[in-house]
Amino acid sequence: MFEFKNTADFAYELDRNDSLAKFRDQFHIPQVNGKDAIYLCGNSLGLQPKSTAEYINQELSDWANLGVEGHLHAKNPWMPYHEYLSVSMAKIVGAKSSEVVVMNTLSANLHLMMVSFYRPSAKRNKILIESDAFPSDRYAVESQIRFHGFDPEECLLELSPRKGEHLIRWEDIEERINSEGEQIALIMLGNTNYYTGQRFDIQKITRLGHQMGCVVGFDCAHGAGNVPLDLHDNEVDFAVWCTYKYLNSGPGSVAALFVHEKHHTTTDIPRFNGWWGHNKSTRFGMRDQFDPIPSAEAWQLSNPPILSLAAILASLKVFDEAGFSNLREKSMKLTAFMEFLLQDLSNDLIEIITPKVIDERGAQLSLLVKKGGKALFDTITSEGVIADWREPNVIRIAPTALYNRFIDVYKFCEILKSQLVTA
Ligand SMILES: *Cc1c(COP(=O)(O)O)cnc(C)c1O
Repeated sequence: MFEFKNTADFAYELDRNDSLAKFRDQFHIPQVNGKDAIYLCGNSLGLQPKSTAEYINQELSDWANLGVEGHLHAKNPWMPYHEYLSVSMAKIVGAKSSEVVVMNTLSANLHLMMVSFYRPSAKRNKILIESDAFPSDRYAVESQIRFHGFDPEECLLELSPRKGEHLIRWEDIEERINSEGEQIALIMLGNTNYYTGQRFDIQKITRLGHQMGCVVGFDCAHGAGNVPLDLHDNEVDFAVWCTYKYLNSGPGSVAALFVHEKHHTTTDIPRFNGWWGHNKSTRFGMRDQFDPIPSAEAWQLSNPPILSLAAILASLKVFDEAGFSNLREKSMKLTAFMEFLLQDLSNDLIEIITPKVIDERGAQLSLLVKKGGKALFDTITSEGVIADWREPNVIRIAPTALYNRFIDVYKFCEILKSQLVTA
């Protein structure tokens, strides 16, 4: 698909021909030893857009000058502030703007979604997850199973790679859903696995799950802002994701969720309610009767932290300006370039466990380190690479289309190779 050369000149040439190269200037790049770090950790914490401070300062100054009047009279009135994010966020996940809402944090939203969408019965009470699910997701799912009086030993089903393999095969997913689907209440997968970088086929999984009568939800923490998503057309029931990874909105920033519109007006879905989910025109009438907004906003509980939403707004503007399909184009190329540069390394030193098929992955490559271990990682860190180490032996590398250059990828590979050979 791509033709690459293994030289620094070629990397510089790719950067010169990159129509998105200018976006790097819109970000603060961390410094190591007085130089730009080789920052390949956008899958963990995205970098700060330079405009973020402006967006937050606007709200700080409106708060200083207006106090409570800011709810209605700030430049960007706070009362409907979450609505300013919906259109751009909906584009990121392929949804209607009425289907997404920015609120709470990821694990909290996952619980709220399971309150509504995990409704176990005597016959159908299981939840299907990946064996390598993010720990928080596993804790959330397990505790929901217990909360309903069931036993995770019996009700938590895990999809695992086959012995000796790292990735989950589609035929194994298919077989599992076909054979056990009638007992599965909820299928809840990370759409892009945080550990291996494997991207699952949302459409196929959702379709099959629905055929078997299961509810299907996805954790898109590693998908949103990274891979194309089509949550509405794929008829996903719900999804959750955070905004501090590929969406560059700051540590612990507010998360988001998706509820398919087919569930917006169903009255028999249980939901934990709060005043921010109530009909906007009568919310301040402080009525006794809850009157849900007929959209994903019904799941909101509280008035949201405006300073954090301001950071998300700043970041989404950058995405809007760059265009997600352009970003994905570049992202595929950046990652393929890294794969190309690493291909001459022996499998005894390092093994890329992320799928080779471009459609089955996002930006990240997960490198299984067979020699050198954590010491190797610490050395490349001291050389100015910021990446992510996962016990027992995986380095996760995620070049990010908005601010990484091809030369970053090239330099990283050079540093890694020089250390591997001496390790
Ligand atoms: C990052 C991540 C989390 C983190 O959860 P928070 O509630 O934001 O702390 C959870 N699940 C997945 C899959 C993640 O990638």
